[in-house]
Amino acid sequence: MLTLSLKEKVIELAAPEFYCPNCHLRRPYEIKRASEAHMIYAILFFEAQDLTQVVECQVCKNGFDPDILKPSNRSLFKLVAATRRQLLDGTSPGSLKVKLMSDGLKEEFINQLISLAQN
Ligand SMILES: [Zn+2]
Repeated sequence: MLTLSLKEKVIELAAPEFYCPNCHLRRPYEIKRASEAHMIYAILFFEAQDLTQVVECQVCKNGFDPDILKPSNRSLFKLVAATRRQLLDGTSPGSLKVKLMSDGLKEEFINQLISLAQN
């Protein structure tokens, strides 16, 4: 019990933020039970698993797979940001898809990437 309350205090003091792929900005988050969150993107990117907890963005209120907090997943969000820039620069989603597929990415992954970038 004591350990848990100490842990909560640390998290609160640290005012945790993450890069929200829906807001495209750093946002404060809360760890919530999967049953309490919206789970819109929670299992999109990562291997299907039994999610018991999700990371909930405190601004858009979408829930995400806690794996999103791992540093190793940062490159994914750079990719989303790069895709978003190209779309904003006028590249059509179709031609972007062809380009990304020629880079060796899977079509399913590209579709998710583009739909996130278009938010
Ligand atoms: Zn958000």
